[in-house]
Amino acid sequence: MKIRAHHLLCLLGFRGEGYNPEFIKKMKEIKERLEKEPNSIIEVVNECDEICALCPYQVNNLCQKGKLSQKRTKEMDEKVLNYLNLQAMDTITSGKVFSLIKKRIGNFSIIVKICGQCGWREVCNYYLKLRNEWRKQKGLGENRKEISP
Ligand code: SF4
Ligand code: SF4
Repeated sequence: MKIRAHHLLCLLGFRGEGYNPEFIKKMKEIKERLEKEPNSIIEVVNECDEICALCPYQVNNLCQKGKLSQKRTKEMDEKVLNYLNLQAMDTITSGKVFSLIKKRIGNFSIIVKICGQCGWREVCNYYLKLRNEWRKQKGLGENRKEISP
């Protein structure tokens, strides 16, 4: 299965929100499959993938959410690939890539560099989890809880 690199983080954080019902259904199916079958083979890419295919902002196989979104989403993919020490089009199992993410992109200071101003941050379980851990370390309370998908 072809998955763009930053979408691996989004899958970890997915809790049921998305652009439309078809997109949400697809995200749910992919997340469940990759988490339940850790030997699933993923081709990690830096371009539109199976998730983008159901997104209303994907046009001609490009992310056209906004003027800069094609550039920004590709940059996010490149950052994730760098942190994971992978190249675009490498293949890896879902179990291995998710544990690599937790090991190498498992703190808030890194995820903020990747996700920037993503509009889904406040409903992204992975982002919230890392932010709450960081807030706890700083002696601050949680300001938004993760919820089950
Ligand atoms: S904050 Fe946005 S880009 Fe980052 S993992 Fe969550 S949904 Fe994906
Ligand atoms: S917003 Fe862009 S990167 Fe995200 S799913 Fe849609 S087309 Fe893909």
